[in-house]
Formats: sequence, structure tokens, C-alpha cells
Amino acid sequence: MKSVFLITIDALRADHLKSYGSHRNIAPNLEKFAEKGTTFLNAITNGPETPSAFSSLFTSILPFLRGGFSPLPTQKLIFPQILKENGVFTYGIHSNPNLGEYFNYQRGFDVFLDGERYKVKSEIRINRDIKSTIFYFLKKIMNYKDLFNKLMYGLKSFNQIKSFLRNKLPFITDILLPFTPIAYNAPYVANKVVSFLRAQKGPLFLWAHFMDVHSPYNPPSKNVRNIIGSDIDIKERNFLNKEIWTNPQNYSISETILENIKILYDAEVNYVDSFLNQIFSIIHSKFENDCLVIITADHGESFYEHGSFFHQGTIYDELLKIPLFIIEIGKNHPVKSAESIVQLIDIAPTILDYYGLSIPESFEGKSLLPLLKRDFIDRDVCVISETYQKDGIMKRDGETGYKLISIRSDEWKYIYNEQFDEELMFHLKSDPEEKVNLITKEKEHLEQFRRIRDSHFEEITDVNEFSKISKAITQIDFKNIKL
Ligand SMILES: [Zn+2]
Repeated sequence: MKSVFLITIDALRADHLKSYGSHRNIAPNLEKFAEKGTTFLNAITNGPETPSAFSSLFTSILPFLRGGFSPLPTQKLIFPQILKENGVFTYGIHSNPNLGEYFNYQRGFDVFLDGERYKVKSEIRINRDIKSTIFYFLKKIMNYKDLFNKLMYGLKSFNQIKSFLRNKLPFITDILLPFTPIAYNAPYVANKVVSFLRAQKGPLFLWAHFMDVHSPYNPPSKNVRNIIGSDIDIKERNFLNKEIWTNPQNYSISETILENIKILYDAEVNYVDSFLNQIFSIIHSKFENDCLVIITADHGESFYEHGSFFHQGTIYDELLKIPLFIIEIGKNHPVKSAESIVQLIDIAPTILDYYGLSIPESFEGKSLLPLLKRDFIDRDVCVISETYQKDGIMKRDGETGYKLISIRSDEWKYIYNEQFDEELMFHLKSDPEEKVNLITKEKEHLEQFRRIRDSHFEEITDVNEFSKISKAITQIDFKNIKL
């Protein structure tokens, strides 16, 4: 009767957590819970934004291979399909439009709560029943002169009102959800998960994804006070989230600006953390034994380390280093902190391994369960992270975008940007911040990385079967696209 709980937090970079060296303890519930398990200090995402990262996590195949990553090609099996076939009840809740049914993430889930999703243009036009007509006009109203964003930034207690509505009057928020920049928020996700778990006995698999840490950062005042003892006022929040965020080149980015942005971000993490405890408690009380909890992120976030914010168009370690905690409830964890380099493609095999299911040959990752007992550092490790981009913006396929890839060993990291035929190489041991490009100085390593890159590119066999469809879709005019 085994159960697995996968908790993912969008855009949570590793080094803002205490376990990964932060001077602040912004997630006390998470840190305390994670103490019972193994912390993976060198966990790497295989994609620097949501679509490429989650494709890796769910398929255990690198993003570029076997038909691409967004939408997930149907021939790319995702692990919940295998669980369901083997009698495990599967439950998923998320509110990232890139992870919805349109992108084929619902496969294998008995219950799939699609908090925010893309629609096809024709779908919106054709279905003009009363409900969709109301939706259509609501959308018009919310987008009129940026009304929703003005509400969001202009009303101090907006987040609290939103939380209250979601908890007490879900019907109203269900109608409004498609028009809000952030759909299911942390209390909503936590409540849904807790009420689902109360009614379950297992075996089951549950995936809950939290979007609140994702920009824009507009946390409740209480969580900012938890971090620095006072609040950051609305005017400053607005300036940081809108002006600095979108046009950093127009400003001199001071230490104070950066610090305030990081405080707001950290307060969002603190906000999510305050709801995690409910989930941890019920897992403890109802699934005391035979239960594995995995907590991770899809990618990190840039705070101007390399001249940009957000998580688009670059592939530095502020985006690639993610937190990863694995906790087997009630079991002894001989390894508390694992140094091994692990990656998101390892998650699906780990989950199947835990249920005792065989791992399909197509899966490229390895189960991490052995590392809970013995840390094994592989000096020959080679981790690939990749996506498509054009002019710094994420693209979904090789027809609309250019390859952006990072290949890393234990010591070195190589970056190739196809659009500009640009290569970078960093010695991670002596230069973890990736400031000194050694591309002209390390010929031997460079040749090795180029060989790996070229043979990897030769494996790309698509035309992505979905690329035509993916071009035909439109988002329902969200002002803040979440990736
Ligand atoms: Zn994301």
C-alpha cells in the first residue's frame, strides 16, 4: 500500500533556502519536514523554464528528444500513466497553463484539477453558450485598461481577499480564475489536497504544484514582515514588479533594488510554506508508513546575476540549480545531505522504483532511491539542460526558436546558444557564479563538450508532431504569462 506525494513549487531556486546556504530561513515548515529525509545539494533541472523542465520530470526524456516538449507528444509516456495502469489512484492539481490538458499532462490522472489552461481560438469562438458568453465579457472587463493588474497592485489586501474568496466562495473564484494572473493559490491547493487525502486510504500518487512563488511578487504583508520585520509599500512593489522587471535597462540596478525584489520573492516562498504544514500533517497522520514525499521545483529564478530577471532565454545556474528533498516517512535516512549530481529526469524512475514497478527503457534518468542510503559521487556525470528560445524569449519548438543548451560535468559547464552561435565555458569549482568565460583557454574540455553536443543534436528526429497545433493556440490574454 505505498503512496507517493510529489510537491513542486514553480520558480523556487535552491540557494534561497536555508538548506542550500541562504542566510534566511524563509520556509521553516519545509526545512523542518525535510530534516527527516535526504537533501540533494546538487539537483539540476533539465530545462530552464516550465515546459522543458516538467517535460523532463514527467517523461524522464530530455526535452529535445522524441518529438519535443511542448505540448508533450503522445508517444512520450508520462509516469502517471504507468501508475494508473498498475492500480495506483492518481491525483494532480496545478495552475500553470503550460501543464494543462492542452499540453497532454492530464494523461494517467484519475483526478486532474487544471487550474489554468490554454484554449484553442476556435474553441472560444464556437462554444458561445451562455457560460462562455459570460466568460467572454468578464475577460473583456478584466483586461480593460489592465484592470486586473491595477487591482492586484493597487489594493493592498488583494491577496487576502483572493485567498478568502477561494476558501469560502470557490464558485465565484472558479468563474474568475481564468481571468486572474495567478489561478489556484497556495491555500486553495492545500485545501484541495487535504480534503482529498482525508477521504483516501491509498495506495495513491498525488502531485500538487504551487504557483505563488512565480512572478509577479505581491505577497501578503504578513509574509514580508516575517522576513524583514516591516512591509514593502504598494508603490515600491509596483515599481519593482512592473518597471524594474520589464525594463531593467532603463534603471541603474542598485543593491537596494535587488534586495527588495528578493525580499518580495522570499515572502512568496514564506507564504507557500505556511500552507505546506497542513499537507505535511495529514501525510504524517494518515500515511505513516510506506510513503515517499518528493519536494522540488521546475527551475530557479534570475535576479540580475547575468543581466536579466525572470527565467527566460538564459541557462545559468540561478535557473538550473533547484531544491530537491526526498523523505521516506518513518524510515531512517543514512544520507542526510547527498552531494551527487542528480537531475529532474531522475524523478519518474525514482517514483516507479518506489512502487516496485519496472522502469521503461525509454526513461533516461536513474532511480535516486539508492542515494538515500549511500551517496555516490559520479565524476563522469554529464547533465544536459535545454530549451528553445529566440531573442531571449522561450519558444516551444525548433521551428520557432533556436537551441539553448547547457552541458555540465562535475567540474565544468558548457553553454551553446544557437541563435548567435555563441559558446561559453565555466569552471564551476572555482567560478560557481559563471563570471569567467574560459572558452578560448580550455581546448580539450571544449572539444569534449562539442562532441557531446553534436551527438545529442543528431538524436533529434522530430519535426515535432504538434508544432502546427502549438502555433494555432492562443492564451486567454493573461497579462502575466507563467512559464
Ligand atoms: Zn515554472
